[in-house]
Amino acid sequence: MPFAESLRRGHLGRLAASYRRKNNDVTLSIMRRFTFCAGHRLVGHEGKCQNLHGHNYVAEIYVTGQQQDAIGRILDFKLLKSRCKEWLDENWDHTFVLWKEDENGLAAIRQSQPHRIFELDSNPTAENMATYLLKEVCPKILEGTGATAFKVRLWESEETCAEVSL
Ligand SMILES: [Zn+2]
Repeated sequence: MPFAESLRRGHLGRLAASYRRKNNDVTLSIMRRFTFCAGHRLVGHEGKCQNLHGHNYVAEIYVTGQQQDAIGRILDFKLLKSRCKEWLDENWDHTFVLWKEDENGLAAIRQSQPHRIFELDSNPTAENMATYLLKEVCPKILEGTGATAFKVRLWESEETCAEVSL
């Protein structure tokens, strides 16, 4: 099955894992770190996180590929940077990331002009935002590069992060 079709059929995880095993018995991947500022709140949280607030987020995108190119790369770091940074700049940086069912929170932010809102289909915990990056965003922005993301870490602070992997 062609690689691109495998991606569409959701075989991403197995493919990536299988590549990592077969690559001369070494695990080969690259990672780039991205920083962005965003606001959010957690609906139903028992403490302070139920209030609108923000973080200086750090996202780490871990990528593997079918093979190394002639130079020895899985994916050029510059390309990884441009694809990921463009998406983050356009969608999450200086934006309120809110659960699409958080009607009260959405209404509050919409009151301010101008505003930027990204409606997430789940409560915007670090876990859910990392999962969204890995499963929804990375396959789209890495399409055609021959590389796939298999792990994302999203740091909300220097002490706390969520990690999701395929
Ligand atoms: Zn928070």
